[in-house]
Order: sequence, then C-alpha cells, then structure tokens
Amino acid sequence: MLKSIKTKILIIQFGLVLFIVIVLGFFGYSLLVGYLKTAQKEKLEFIARHKADMMQSYFSEKKVLMKRMSEGSEIKLYYRKYQDISLLEYFAKFKEEFPVLSFVNEEGLEEVKIVNGEMSEGLRDISKTVIFQDALWEHNKPVISPLEYNHELGAPAINLAIAKYAYFGDEFVGMLLGTIPLSEITKDISRLEVGESGFISLIDRQGNILAYPREDKIPNRITGRGKEAKELISNAMALKNGFARATILGLDGFVAYAPVKDMEWSVIVTLPYDEFISLPNKLRNTFFGGTFVILVVSGLLNLKITGSLIKPILKLNLAAKALSEGNLSQRVDIESKDEVGTLSESFNRMSENLEQIIQKEKKLAETDRKRAEELKKAYAELEKSEDAALNIMEDLDKQKEELQNAYKELQQEIAERKNAEEKVKASEERTRLLLESTAEAIYGLDLEGNCTFCNPSCIRILGYRDQQDLLGKNMHNLIHHTHPDGTSYKMTECKIYQAFREGKGTHVNDEVLWRGDGTSFPAEYWSYPVFREGKIIGSVVTFVDITERKKVEEALAQRAQELTRLNAELQQFAYVASHDLQEPLRMVTSYVQLLEKRYKGKLDTDADEFIGYAVDGAKRMHMLINDILTFSRVGTRGIPFKLTDCEVVIKQVLTNLQVTIKETKAEVTYDPLPEVMADDIQLAQLFQNLISNAIKFRRKDLPRVHIAAKKEEDYWVFSVHDNGIGIDKKYNDKIFQIFQRIHSRDEYPGTGIGLAVCKKIIERHGGQMWVESEPGKGSTFYFTIPIKEANEGKEESRG
Ligand code: ADP
Repeated sequence: MLKSIKTKILIIQFGLVLFIVIVLGFFGYSLLVGYLKTAQKEKLEFIARHKADMMQSYFSEKKVLMKRMSEGSEIKLYYRKYQDISLLEYFAKFKEEFPVLSFVNEEGLEEVKIVNGEMSEGLRDISKTVIFQDALWEHNKPVISPLEYNHELGAPAINLAIAKYAYFGDEFVGMLLGTIPLSEITKDISRLEVGESGFISLIDRQGNILAYPREDKIPNRITGRGKEAKELISNAMALKNGFARATILGLDGFVAYAPVKDMEWSVIVTLPYDEFISLPNKLRNTFFGGTFVILVVSGLLNLKITGSLIKPILKLNLAAKALSEGNLSQRVDIESKDEVGTLSESFNRMSENLEQIIQKEKKLAETDRKRAEELKKAYAELEKSEDAALNIMEDLDKQKEELQNAYKELQQEIAERKNAEEKVKASEERTRLLLESTAEAIYGLDLEGNCTFCNPSCIRILGYRDQQDLLGKNMHNLIHHTHPDGTSYKMTECKIYQAFREGKGTHVNDEVLWRGDGTSFPAEYWSYPVFREGKIIGSVVTFVDITERKKVEEALAQRAQELTRLNAELQQFAYVASHDLQEPLRMVTSYVQLLEKRYKGKLDTDADEFIGYAVDGAKRMHMLINDILTFSRVGTRGIPFKLTDCEVVIKQVLTNLQVTIKETKAEVTYDPLPEVMADDIQLAQLFQNLISNAIKFRRKDLPRVHIAAKKEEDYWVFSVHDNGIGIDKKYNDKIFQIFQRIHSRDEYPGTGIGLAVCKKIIERHGGQMWVESEPGKGSTFYFTIPIKEANEGKEESRG
C-alpha cells in the first residue's frame, strides 16, 4: 500500500496540512483566548468602576439638591421666623428624592417633618447625633451619614444634612435633614446585568453587604473561600480597585471591585467562571470543528488532485506489467502533453518494436520446433526397437537364472532329503537295535488300543512266534483281559489304555499279563502317551516279567518274618534263661557263701582259695545274669512313649548320681533340652549310663560332663561330652557290643553292658548312636531321637 506513489503523496500532503492547521490554529486559539480573557476582565473592571462612579454622582446629585433646597426662599422665610409659613408643602415637592425630610432648629429639635409626603408627628431631638454634629461643622455644605436603621421607613437608610448658616454665614439658623432608604440607592445595582448570570453587590468598610441582587437570601457579611478571596475582600474593604479570580459568596468566578469614595463603600462585580470561560470554550470548539472540516476538505482535495496526477502513471504501470507478462499489444492512452505523456508515447513505440521482433522470432522458432519434432519421432522409433530387443534378452537371462536357481534348489532339496532319510534310517536302526536288544518288552498302541509295533522281547515274553501275531491286534483283549482271580478285566478300566485316554503316564507294579498259550505271569508295566503336534496319537507300553523278582521278594519276606520270630524267641530265651538261671545261681551263691562262712580257715589253704574263687565266680555270674536281664528287658519291658521333658529326666539322673558326683567332684552341666516322645525310664537309664561312664573313665583332672541337644531336620541330636581318657578309634564300634570292654576289670570296674543297653534303647526309639573321641582328651557320645507328634509312636509297646 505504502509503495504506491499516490499513497505517499497523499500522506505527505495530508501531514503538511495537518501540521499547518495545528500550528496556526494553536497560536490563533491562544491569542484569541488571551484577548477574550483580557476583554472580559476589562469589561468587569469597567462595570465595577462605572457603577461606583454612578453611585458617587448619585450622592453628588443628592448633595446638590440638598444644597439647592436649603437655599430655597421657603427655607429662608421659615428660619427668619415667619412662623406661619409652612414648610410642609415645600418638603412635599421633594418626597421622591427624600422620603423623610425634616427641618431641625438651632437646638437640634426637629420642627417640621414629612414622611413619604405626609406630615409626621414623630419629631426628635437629633442634637446628639453624629450627622447633626458633622453638618454643624460644615457651614452650608451637605454631609452624608453612614447607613443606619430608620424607624420612620423601617429600613436601612442614609441621611443627608446641611446646616444653614445665615446672616453672612455666621449664624446657624437650622438644618435640613433628608433620609434616603438604601433600597432607593441600590435599585440601579439590581437592575444592572452582568453577563447572563453575573451580579453586582455592595459592601461597606466593615464588609457588611448592602446590596445583593441575587435571589438567594441576602447574607449579612461578605464571605469568601481561599487565599485569593480573603485578599480580595480585604482590598475591597480598604477601598481599593482590583480584579481577581476567587470564590466569593459561594460562587467561583472572576471578580472586579471599585470603591464609592463618598460612602466608603465598595462595588463588587462577579461573573461566574463557567460563563467567563464559555466564550473561549466556544472558540475552542469552533477551532476544532474548523480544523476537522479543513482536514476533511483538504483530504478530499488531495485525493482528487493526486488521483488526476497519478492516474496516467498508474495506467502506464499497468501497461508495463501487462507487457512484462507477454501482452505485446498493450498500448497506453496519451491524455496530456506533459512528462507522463511523453513517457507513454515512448512506451507505446517500444511495445510496437518489441511485438514485431517477437513475431519474427516466433516464426523461426516454429520451423525449428517442427524439425526437432520429426527428428524426435525418428529417434523414438529407433529407441523402441532397440528396447524391444533388449527386453527379450533380459527376459531370456532372467529365465535362465531362474532355471539355474530352481536346479540348485532341487539339488539342495535332494541332498537334504537324502541326509534326512539317512538320519531317519540311522535313528530307526538305533531304535530297532535298542528295541531288539533290550530285555524289556515294548509295544506301541494306537488310539483304539491296537498294537502298532512290538519288540522281540515282547513277542518272546508273551509266547508268540513273530510280530504278525500281535500287529493290529487289540492288546487288552489279547494279553490283559482277566484278573489273577479269574474275573474279567474290563477294557474301560484298563490302566494301560489310561495313558492315551487321560494323557498321563501310568506305572503299575503288580498285575498279571496273559501269554499266547493261556498262562499268565506277574508283570510290572509303564504306559506313556505319544504326542504328535500336540495331539495324543497313542501310547508306548513297556513291561517286564517279575516272576523271579516276586519269588525273591516272597523269600525275603519269609526270612524277615522268620528272623523276627527268632529274634523274639531269642529275647524271650535270654530273658527266661537269665531269669530262670537266677534261682539256681542264688542257691549256688548262698551255699558257696555258707561254705565260706563255716569252713574258712578250717580246711586247708587250697580249699579256702577254691571257695574264694567259687564265691567270686558266683557273684560275677550273678552280675552277668542281671546284665543280660537288663539288656533283654529293653526290648521286652519297655513302656509306651510319651512326651518327656529331657531336663526333668536329667535332673532325676543327677539326683541318682549325687553321691558319685560329690565323691569325684565332677561338674555336670547341660544346655536347655527339648521334650521328646520317649520311654522316660529308659531315657533316664541311657543318660545315667552315659554320665556315669563319663565320670568313671576320667583322667586325673576333675571330670567335666556337658549335655547338649541340637535340632536337625526331623530329629534331635543329643551329645554327652566329657574330658576323660578317650577311646581309640578302632574301638568305636566294639564298645557298643554286649560284654565288650577295652579295659580290664582291675583298671575300671564294669561288665561291658552299659553302652550295649544304651544303643538298644536308642534303636528302640528309632534313633542311632555313635561316639567321636580322641584318646587322652575326651569323648562325645551322640544319639538321635526322632521328632514325633505326641500321638505318634503309640504302637511302640512291648516288642
Ligand atoms: P562298662 O562300663 O561296664 O565297661 P560299657 O558298655 O559301659 O561297659 O563300656 C564299654 C567300654 O567302653 C568301657 O569298658 C570303656 O572302655 C569304654 N567307655 C565307655 N564310656 C567311656 C568313656 N566315657 N570314656 C572312655 N571310654 C569309655
């Protein structure tokens, strides 16, 4: 937009006009406003002065009148004491000028008085009044009194008086006293207009308001707001001239004041600010309105002028643009003979020349184009045939390549297949070998339960000649149809078929299978489902003939039974033997002892010695039999297990052993011990044997024994540790056998039954016992007791 010349010119012109208008307007406006303000001020001042002058001349006139009155023949006649001459008529002539008029005699008494043209009876003595005194001084010169309230008129008024001196001016003959009401004096003020809403007021030197023409209630004193007002009021009261802007009597305005000298009054003219300023305001509005109109008009004019100037240039511009876009026939109208006209002419000529040149070139180009096209066609034909030939060759190449690839793939496939076949063959061979060599019978089943393959062991064990006898046959009907007791085995219950019915492996330990000849044999079999691509397609069954194993198992069971019986018998025998042997032994012992008692020293020394051996032998025999009895009682006299607190047991054992412990100064300690399921009497016997052994097999130092228990998975491991002589490793097993000892009886007393009893007790409780020891340092005896629930182990009773 700004690129266009027209816009630029418009903006420049418009800006120029705007600038000039604003500058000139502003100065003009300021000058005018200044002038207006001065004019207003002068006007107000003039009004004030004029009014003051008017009043001044009013009073002068009244004075002149008073003087003239005093010089009237009526007055002369009167004071010359022609009493019969009445002044009333004379006074009535002046009732307009002086509503109250009186003649005062030399003593200051009113003699004649009219009020509003009527004779008044209210004659006063004014000899003491200021005006009387003032007038007395001024011989034949009128004086004016200050404003005072007049009773006759009932209003504020001023008095004028003139003292009449006659007889060559030496003798005071009387005084004329006239009264003018204030309203009469100020009526002109009320009438005078100051602008539309301005007014004139009158004040005296005290600031009392004498005239106030506005309709509001007349205020008593002049008032003002602000510094200017105060200054203005004091100036006015000092009878000065002046002008100011101030808020007087509640009105913000411009105020001019001027004194009325004779009366010591001041005229105050007030023009409200709004009115004072209304003219400049009007002027301002007119100025702005005018500026706007000037701008609009100048804008339109600009538009018009620049339009007519720019139009031919625009046309030329458009034509040049059209020419640049290829429109060679474009010409411009020549509207004027100025520079633009010449430019347009040159443009038209240039376009013409250009058009001719281009026409020529076009023709040449056309012939060239035609030739080129023909050449192109010929070349295209040539290229086409060449392309066709190339395409055929490419196709051939491609086909050849494809054939080669296909051949390669075929060869690879053949190789892979061969490889796979070989692998399959090898695997089949391995499977075949495996199947044929294994002693276990193996056969396959389809989903109907028919045989799909079988190995030589299978054919052999089932008593057939070759696999044709089995292939395709229902194997349940063939080999699994009947239970050992002769009842039929239903196919729906067949555990072999369960494998492919339920998809999980089955293992049966003890069923019979039937041979081809109708006999049966015990068998153990496994049947596993066979999957292909996630689906069950049948199962593979493996079985073995367990006839031999069964026989062995039966024999073993028989042997075990026999052993148990023998063991029981042996235990019974040991118990009975030792028990029954006790009686004859007691007899032998008591009689041998009797022999010793009666015949010791009475026979020869040999006899004494022999009797001694016999007594000793009998005692030992007694001990041995007791030991055997104790040992056999472990198995035969045990009581049922119950929950036993080991700490309670230990405490009991320590009480039993207290004499030994005291004698040997042994120290026996124990950790917190558990509760176990046990025969408490036997448990006490066990601990007592172990602790007394620990003390018995002590070294020279004081014996120290410590008992502890440790929890393993499902049993407690107890340990009884001592600091005794220790045991050589090679005796670790021997010491637990009955009557087996390492030391002679002279070294350490004992029969070698203690540890055997301990071991038997532990075995009865389902545990184990062993020793770990280092000779000369000490031994630790370990035993285990299974952790059982309180209700378990009840079956354990006398075995
Ligand atoms: P006895 O104590 O009657 O000899 P035991 O069966 O109790 O029979 O002990 C067998 C043997 O084991 C003992 O003769 C002894 O040699 C050895 N023995 C047992 N307890 C200990 C022990 N705490 N320290 C060393 N040896 C021991």
